[in-house]
Amino acid sequence: MTEIQKPARVRFAPSPTGRTHLGSGRTALYNYLLARQTGGQFILRIEDTDQKRYVEGAEEELMEGLRWLGLEWDEGPDVGGEYGPYKQTERREFYDKYARQLVEQGDAYYCFCTAKEDDGAQEETKGKRQAHRDICPDRDVDLAEADQKVASGTPHVIRFKMPYEGTTTVTDAIRGDITVENATLDDTVLVKTDGLPVYHLAVVVDDHLMKITHAIRTSEWLPTFPLHGRLYAAFGWEEPIWIHPSIFLKPDGKGKMSKRDSETLMEAGISLFLSDFGKFGYLPEAVVNWAALIGWSYNDSEEEFSMDDLIEKFSIEKLNPAPAALNFTKLDHFNGVYIRKLEVADLAARLKPFFEADGLVVDDEEKLHKVAEVLQIRLAKLTDAPAMGGFFFRDDIEPDPETLIGKKMDAASSLVMAKRVESLIAAAPDFSMDTLNQPLRDLAVELETKVGNIFGFLRNVLTAQQVSPPVFETMEIIGREKVMERIARGISLLEKM
Ligand code: GLU
Repeated sequence: MTEIQKPARVRFAPSPTGRTHLGSGRTALYNYLLARQTGGQFILRIEDTDQKRYVEGAEEELMEGLRWLGLEWDEGPDVGGEYGPYKQTERREFYDKYARQLVEQGDAYYCFCTAKEDDGAQEETKGKRQAHRDICPDRDVDLAEADQKVASGTPHVIRFKMPYEGTTTVTDAIRGDITVENATLDDTVLVKTDGLPVYHLAVVVDDHLMKITHAIRTSEWLPTFPLHGRLYAAFGWEEPIWIHPSIFLKPDGKGKMSKRDSETLMEAGISLFLSDFGKFGYLPEAVVNWAALIGWSYNDSEEEFSMDDLIEKFSIEKLNPAPAALNFTKLDHFNGVYIRKLEVADLAARLKPFFEADGLVVDDEEKLHKVAEVLQIRLAKLTDAPAMGGFFFRDDIEPDPETLIGKKMDAASSLVMAKRVESLIAAAPDFSMDTLNQPLRDLAVELETKVGNIFGFLRNVLTAQQVSPPVFETMEIIGREKVMERIARGISLLEKM
């Protein structure tokens, strides 16, 4: 494997054509790790030359998603940098210059026969068709003649002139050499009728001008990778080290994730869009750790990596090009791990918006802190917090009266039990385990009932939930006044039964 050039200059180069996918997040992460590890630069370049597919707001969403993951860029459209502009639509002069250079040196030509609506750009992806270079009357037209047509305003595209003979070999650092017969390639459009370049030309020009040393990008580009190699050869430029990581498979490992699969996941509260992870209660720390391991591993035993660990331990050699199944159980596992690692104050701050989104008023920071502390070991996702601990911030606790009746008890005996519990708690100096546990157990023995019935009554009356944080801690957080109020309310419900 090629020695890693230090410092590495890497880029994440998304097209703002829709919402940012987890796969893009992972690509950005790998690039970022390499930059930080080698003391290099992580560059954000917006590849917006496909104006037809441009989606308003996509750029903002992707920047927000990257920052949420913790991937700050050193150069980019909003932060500037020495090699800007960092938006391709603002770099036309470069593409014009280099496209013209290719035409002049005979590696590209003006084509007037495909300058229709779709610029022939679509044509590149349509399976079976006649090779353009076999039917194009413009391929070998004299340049002076073509220039005249261009000057007179005849619509045209610029196509690469792919040789018929020989082979092209490109190298991926984790996949090895890929060799294709040039006879199987075609004359790809490099510049469209609107004068804007397609990805193939823009990526080569920009990576060269921005002095990119490593290009980690989606595997979607493997089929056109040889063309990129030919373009570098035509310019006589040194190629970056190319890396195309694994593609994602469905959780069961059977086939690529489809749109339908993503929708099914959405219904289950999981999304593959970067900006949804936070909304769905995941921590960026967990998503970073999880995403890094989709197609990369450090060894067989370690799997918990903070961003700093990843910066230290990441290596291209350990990227695995084999398709990787998405394991959401693992994501939930990591989320729990990172929730438990948070400082309580940090967790409290992260939980607050979730309680508020549930309509709760959270104005008591001390209480929020205590709630965070008691929920910390119980939460799988931040979104679980309102269902688990919303009652702490609610006054209108409405327990189902049926839940206040103990097992093998009736309303009358439960009422007796409730009143005894009320006086015991009213007399208790505090609500600690030490103070309350034994007296409540003794009461159960005296009333010949199970202690679970006493705790069940308290839990339901205090929280109106079947499952809650431990009763004594809950009581301490709720406070004496509300505890007594809620017990009294339970008693009155039992009296009415
Ligand atoms: N704009 C391309 C994409 O979004 C970038 C690929 C690359 O990283 O070179 O797929």
